[in-house]
Amino acid sequence: MTVACCGPGVATAQGVAVGPAFLLERGAASVTPRRIEREEVAAELERLEGALQSARRALEAVRDQIPATTPINVAEFIDSHLLMLQDVALIDPARTLIREQLLSADWALQQHREELLRVFETMEDPYLQSRRDDVDHVVHHVLTFLLAGVSEEPAVEEDIRGSVVIARDLSPADTIVLHQRGAAAFVTESGGPTSHTAILARSLNIPAVMGVRNITRYCRHGETVVVDGETGTVLADVSTGILEHYRRRLRNLSARRSRLLHLVGEPTVSTDGVAVTLLANLELHEDTKLARANGAAGVGLYRTEFLYMNRDGLPTEEEHLTAYLEVLQGFAGSPVTIRTLDLGVDKQVDGAGSACPTVCNPALGLRAIRLCLREPDLFRPQLRAILRASAQGPVRMMIPMLSSLRELDSVLALVEQTRRELTREGLPFDPQMPVGGMIEVPAAALSAAAFARRLDFLSIGTNDLIQYTLAIDRTDDAVNYLFDPMNPAILRLIRGTIEAGIAQGKPVSMCGEMAGDQRYTRLLLGLGLREFSMQPSALLEVKEIVRASDIGWLKTTAAGLLQRIDEEDPERLLEALNPRGD
Ligand code: PEP
Ligand code: MG
Repeated sequence: MTVACCGPGVATAQGVAVGPAFLLERGAASVTPRRIEREEVAAELERLEGALQSARRALEAVRDQIPATTPINVAEFIDSHLLMLQDVALIDPARTLIREQLLSADWALQQHREELLRVFETMEDPYLQSRRDDVDHVVHHVLTFLLAGVSEEPAVEEDIRGSVVIARDLSPADTIVLHQRGAAAFVTESGGPTSHTAILARSLNIPAVMGVRNITRYCRHGETVVVDGETGTVLADVSTGILEHYRRRLRNLSARRSRLLHLVGEPTVSTDGVAVTLLANLELHEDTKLARANGAAGVGLYRTEFLYMNRDGLPTEEEHLTAYLEVLQGFAGSPVTIRTLDLGVDKQVDGAGSACPTVCNPALGLRAIRLCLREPDLFRPQLRAILRASAQGPVRMMIPMLSSLRELDSVLALVEQTRRELTREGLPFDPQMPVGGMIEVPAAALSAAAFARRLDFLSIGTNDLIQYTLAIDRTDDAVNYLFDPMNPAILRLIRGTIEAGIAQGKPVSMCGEMAGDQRYTRLLLGLGLREFSMQPSALLEVKEIVRASDIGWLKTTAAGLLQRIDEEDPERLLEALNPRGD
């Protein structure tokens, strides 16, 4: 038997599944253009209303069926679609088309849907583009009822337990219902990693691959399909050898997942009794649940740039505060490290307006704290909100991209001025709120001791530290191959920063990608790192390694190996610390 590869697509939710293909017909609704007589207008408007009601009832039924054990955000997806059904902007133009252009209800809705999708096509922001799918799903849902002329959506009758659902597109409601009916994986032609269906698949822990072109044409209903949600591969018509390989992987993965889940409530302590703190990096509020489910001891990096994205003006102080309190609440008493805004370079946004001009070399330009110091209007509302949030729970403030002590002194003076302002206004804040700095510019790493003296904690941002030390643009694919955390210069800067923190009695964390990469966990423990902050899905894997490590031995071994760092092959160094090759 030959191997036919239908993928690759975009890996959107991890895990592996092997099962019969279930081809779901959820294609474009076929609408016949039809003009109506003026006397029919009232009846068509009523038909549209009826379809809206039916769509609403169907969504409510899906929401009501969601088991209490499902992550809360799953229901939120259905709620957001219910809200969209009430949005006049979504349906009203279709009503106007019926009344004024005398189009049938289905044609009017279809015309309006196409117009909406055209508007979305012109948006460049991938997040906004992914919201296009939501609009499409909601309108499609109403159209299904209009076309079928029934009050109940046609149900999928077949047994789909253990099947790989293959569709052009899946709405969040489809995803939930199919999951409840036992689907093992999802593969779709459209959608990407930020689509709601992808986020849902991750929350529901189902492997999913999206954006696999023409998969509905190439796959036969019932044939065995392999879905690898880690690599984004979908295989059909595979040999028994390959099938057995994936089945074995499946068994290993499921054993591993249950082993890891057992670790959630366990302490993060090494075999020789050293406690280590594992924190989460958050990009969006949605990440809170996964971080909590994976046992994060708090937030080590809350990236606040999203507050400035996809909008015209700047976020207000109250908007900042609401966002911060939401995360604080989600972490109920655990520390939340809010990083002040890091706009510029890859994080250009409309909300900052002309404050972020396009320059020749943006990575070295007016970004992050430099921009904040230059544009106090951008910075002050955030500073005030972070301080005000500190009255409600354990908030830490973290400054990105520091490169000199003078710059740091300016920031600290601004913080002090904001404290005085709030005191005058009678607004509460925690006067002891820790203020820390990111060490991500080589100059700061080389002066880490002086930074540590003035700050309450340090956090190593390896993503930028590597970029600046090795002079490689982290957003340029052409030089990606040079991005190397094991470069001796990087290891020296990391070691120096950790040692400076220890000498000054100030905690040092790491929040760059290196902190969540298991290959480096033992090495970093050996270098003295005791606080790691990472994407939530990496937490349990790193925890497992910490719990199996003898940190005393790692320290001695790493120190010996680092003496030969310029002569030794970095891979050999890692092998010496990671004896099982993981
Ligand atoms: C870093 O530079 O390592 C970091 C965590 O910050 P960001 O990736 O947001 O620049
Ligand atoms: Mg950075």
